[in-house]
Amino acid sequence: MPYLSYLKLNVSVYINIHAHSIASKAGDFVLPNCIVSKDYLFEQPCSAGIHPWYIDQNRDAQWEAFMQYAKKPQVLAIGECGLDKLTSTTWAIQAETFEKQLEIANQLNKPLIIHCVRAYHEVFVSLLRKEVQVPVIFHGYERNWPLAEQLLKNKNYYISLGAAIGKGKMDELIQQLPLDRLFLETDDKSTQISDIYAYFCRAKKLPTQQVEDQLLANFNRIFNYSIA
Ligand SMILES: [Zn+2]
Repeated sequence: MPYLSYLKLNVSVYINIHAHSIASKAGDFVLPNCIVSKDYLFEQPCSAGIHPWYIDQNRDAQWEAFMQYAKKPQVLAIGECGLDKLTSTTWAIQAETFEKQLEIANQLNKPLIIHCVRAYHEVFVSLLRKEVQVPVIFHGYERNWPLAEQLLKNKNYYISLGAAIGKGKMDELIQQLPLDRLFLETDDKSTQISDIYAYFCRAKKLPTQQVEDQLLANFNRIFNYSIA
């Protein structure tokens, strides 16, 4: 068997699409998130955005920092950015900050990682209004299958599930979710990404290798970056 095919058969990597730390086990791939004006920018591949919880008083300076980061080659995705009905940030400021980031994602042709709390309708409206053409990942999805089904009608939209699936209340969603529209993540939880994969595979009744392969394919499809 040629050496390369041999390697290909043995590729096994857990992709953690959204985390707030760079800690990962050897062989895993993590895309840490830089919250602009809270975190330093990572030197490794990452996402960067203005989070609705952390919009600065000095919005111009924060925006300037965001723009500097957004253009950097290691910033593979814009976000997490979005709308949150449970935070104290003024709605108009959240919406303006979110939509400006949608424009930049479009201009730079980088996928989006969306933070959405009780604001799916408003997020959809903004994505449509800004004619977003880039892939959109709804991170930390904790809602039901009917909403996911609606959302996935847009071929550019993806769902990322995190530690919340371990509570056992999202098994129906897991059974329905098409694998080619999925990512998994740890977010700010201490759960290992391998445990989230393991739970998902048990609930979906699929071998881990199949899920690993498909999530790697999803990653390679939407990011202009190849995991070694
Ligand atoms: Zn997060």
